[in-house]
Amino acid sequence: MEQGSCHCGQTAWEVKLIDKVHILCHCGVCQKLGGGPASLNQIVPKENFKLKKGNLKVYTYYGDSGKAVRCYFCPNCTSHAYHHQEIMGNHIVVRTMLLESARSMPPGAEIFGKARLPWVKEVAQTFDTMPPDEPEPKSKL
Ligand SMILES: [Zn+2]
Ligand SMILES: [Zn+2]
Repeated sequence: MEQGSCHCGQTAWEVKLIDKVHILCHCGVCQKLGGGPASLNQIVPKENFKLKKGNLKVYTYYGDSGKAVRCYFCPNCTSHAYHHQEIMGNHIVVRTMLLESARSMPPGAEIFGKARLPWVKEVAQTFDTMPPDEPEPKSKL
């Protein structure tokens, strides 16, 4: 189990990762929501995530598919713990940078590479959008 927490400490969680790696997402939604060139994530089954402290607030937006994407964040400091896309069923996307072990985890792959900022170097195998065997595109540019 990896321990996660928000910036202010009002919320904390634990999550069981499939692999101890970061998946970099360069999509436009991650850039806008996170304010950086890419977000660091991993897809896990919903039951792998347990909220240990506080309550997360939900921000919902709709992808091009018309399906809802729900982002769960700390209502005080806005750190984004994970999001759930209706289209992904029982899986959620956890933000791996918010885990205690984030610094020791290597990059595993990069997705939505087509939206990479031109000065951001490639650090892992890159997919234009999603790897072919992933559940569904996680967001639209
Ligand atoms: Zn917080
Ligand atoms: Zn993204």
